[in-house]
Amino acid sequence: MGRQFRAIEISKTDKGQKLDFVTLSETDLMPGDVTVAVEHSTVNYKDGLAVTGRAPIIRHYPLIPGVDFAGTVVDSTHRLIKVGDKVILNGWGVGESHHGGFAGLARVKGDWLVPVPDTMTTAETMAIGTAGYTAMLCVVALERQGVRPEDGEILVTGAAGGVGSIAIAILAKLGYRVAASTGRPEEEAFLKGLGASQIIDRNEFMGPVKPLAKTRWAGAVDAVGSTTLANVLSQIQPEGTVAACGLAQGMDLPASVAPFILRGIKLIGINSVTAAPTRRIEAWSRLARDLDRAKLNALTSHAKLDDVPAIAADIIAGKIRGRVVIDL
Ligand code: NDP
Repeated sequence: MGRQFRAIEISKTDKGQKLDFVTLSETDLMPGDVTVAVEHSTVNYKDGLAVTGRAPIIRHYPLIPGVDFAGTVVDSTHRLIKVGDKVILNGWGVGESHHGGFAGLARVKGDWLVPVPDTMTTAETMAIGTAGYTAMLCVVALERQGVRPEDGEILVTGAAGGVGSIAIAILAKLGYRVAASTGRPEEEAFLKGLGASQIIDRNEFMGPVKPLAKTRWAGAVDAVGSTTLANVLSQIQPEGTVAACGLAQGMDLPASVAPFILRGIKLIGINSVTAAPTRRIEAWSRLARDLDRAKLNALTSHAKLDDVPAIAADIIAGKIRGRVVIDL
C-alpha cells in the first residue's frame, strides 16, 4: 500500500466542485520518476482560483491542488536527482492537471524540479513560492530590456499581494526607486518597509485610459492587468518596459497602440508555468542573492493544510498581505 499521507482533494459534483481533506496512499499519486515528501506549499492567486472554483483552473478530477511545493526526495529514478535532495516545484500544470502540493507526498517528473539553493531552506522557497519566482522573472525581464536604476522610478501594481511585495523587495535591493500601487493605504508602513519610496492609490490607474498620459515610470511590474495595465502603459517613459504577469483586476487590456508606436515602449509577458529550466534556475539563484531574507520574513505568514480553503477565499478577495506558507 505504501506511504500514507494527508491531502486536499477537489472532486466534481453536479453542483460544482467539492473539497475534502483525505488520507491517501502513494499508489493514488500520478506517474512520475521522483517522489517528494512535501515540507511546505503555499497559496498563490491561482490556487485561490482553483480551490474556490472561481475559474476553471482544475482540468482533471479528482485532483490535489497546489501549484507549488518544496520538500525532500524520498524516491527517484531520475538520473540527476537523488534520495535526500531538497527540491522546488513551480507550475508545469501541477495543481491543475497533475496532483499538487496540498499533500504530504507528491510524485512528479524530475525534469520539472529545481534544486533548493544552498543558502535557502524549503520554508523560504515557499515563502517566495510561484508568486515570488514570477516577481523575479519580471525583474529579469526589465533588466534584459535595459531598464537601469538611474533611468527612473519603477511602478509595482498589486503591491501588497504576493508578486507585488516580493517585486518591491527585490527592486529596492537592486537600487531601483519603487512606487507601490495599492488599494490598501493601511499597508503603507509595510510597503515602505519592503523598500517602496512612495505609495500610490490604485484608483489612479482605474479611470478612463488616455492613449498617451504624462510619463511617470521607467518600467513597471504589473500583477493586475485590465484597465490598470492600460493606464500604466500610457504613463511609461520612452523606451521603457512593462513586465505583465497577472490579471487580478481582469484579463482584458483596453489599451491603445500609441505608447508603443510613439514612445517605443515594450510590454513583456511573463509565463512562469512552462518557463525553461535554465530560466528557473537563474531566477532561483537570483532570489537567493537579491532578496533580503529579513524582508522575506516580514512579508510571510505560516498556516496549516486545514487553513487552505479560508486563505484561498481571502486571496481572491484581495485580503492576503504578502505570502502565506502552508506547513505540511
Ligand atoms: P495576490 O492576491 O497575492 O495579489 C494580487 C494583488 O492585486 C492584491 O493583493 C491587490 O493588491 C491587487 N488586486 C486584487 N484585486 C484587484 C482589483 N480588482 N483591481 C486592482 N488590483 C487588485 O496574488 P499574487 O500576487 O499571487 O498573484 C498576482 C497575479 O499574478 C495574479 O493574477 C496571478 O494569477 C498572477 N500570476 C501569474 C503568474 C504567471 O506565470 N504569469 C505566476 C504567478 C502569479 P493591493 O491590495 O495592493 O491593491
